[in-house]
Amino acid sequence: MKIGIVGGGGRMGQMLIRQVARTDGATLAGVTDRDGAPALGQDAGLLAGLGPLGVPVTADPVALFAAADAVIDFTSPAATPLHAKLAAEHQTALIVGTTGLDEAAEEALAVAALSTPILQAPNMSLGVVLLSALVERVARSLDIDWDIEIVEMHHRHKVDAPSGTALALGQAAARGRNVDLADQSVRSRDGFTGPRTPGTIGFATLRGGDVIGDHTVTFAGQGERIELSHKAQSRDIFAAGAVRAALWCSGRSPGRYTMTDVLGLDQ
Ligand code: NAD
Repeated sequence: MKIGIVGGGGRMGQMLIRQVARTDGATLAGVTDRDGAPALGQDAGLLAGLGPLGVPVTADPVALFAAADAVIDFTSPAATPLHAKLAAEHQTALIVGTTGLDEAAEEALAVAALSTPILQAPNMSLGVVLLSALVERVARSLDIDWDIEIVEMHHRHKVDAPSGTALALGQAAARGRNVDLADQSVRSRDGFTGPRTPGTIGFATLRGGDVIGDHTVTFAGQGERIELSHKAQSRDIFAAGAVRAALWCSGRSPGRYTMTDVLGLDQ
């Protein structure tokens, strides 16, 4: 399968170049970055710390989507709508790891999914997909006397908060409780907040250093507490999941897919 990478100069982009290069059955169809990015013109292999691969980083996503069977997007919310449109035009599968997507980007993905497979996951690691299933299961068993709080920590460069993964864990908890997260979420607390409103799902965000991604969902009851945690120790897990997802998309019908589909897990 010919796999293209948009945003190849980024932290995840470089991991993805390495992951494609070492995956049997995958070849690198091309790599892009934004206009003016330092990675432009460099050999993708050298950029990623490998030997030369003979694939230069360009600012031409049209040529990339024309050449690739699947494209992996870990870029920025502003970039994703164009990638979704190009994926639909070229019937290229699109794997979206970018988080913090706004309504316009979500809408662009929904439209593209009418023409091509769109696989989106705010966290491509096996561990987080399992954590999400566990959170939904536990939330289903506990009543609202158990307060749900979600804490995440990421490196100092992360630009969106709470993380896409924290929000997805909140969605899993809300599904388990059969409530709408939008009605129940408390995204920050400051000053004289008053007592906690029963049934809400709280979020707290920490930023610092080079933390790749830690998430803990706490179910706090009277006299006891359950904590479900995941700690990412390497970005490799996201790159491996994304390339596995790209290979899984081969021959799939147009539509929206998640890592739960790739891993064949029942929620
Ligand atoms: P980064 O800033 O290091 O890299 C982003 C790259 O995208 C940069 O090279 C940037 O120049 C490029 N880019 C921006 N606009 C572009 C455009 N229009 N066309 C092509 N390239 C463009 O960020 P990162 O740490 O690699 O994270 C990228 C995204 O992936 C973030 O949204 C992050 O939250 C998300 N992420 C998701 C997962 C997951 O498993 N789903 C894991 C880690 C990070």
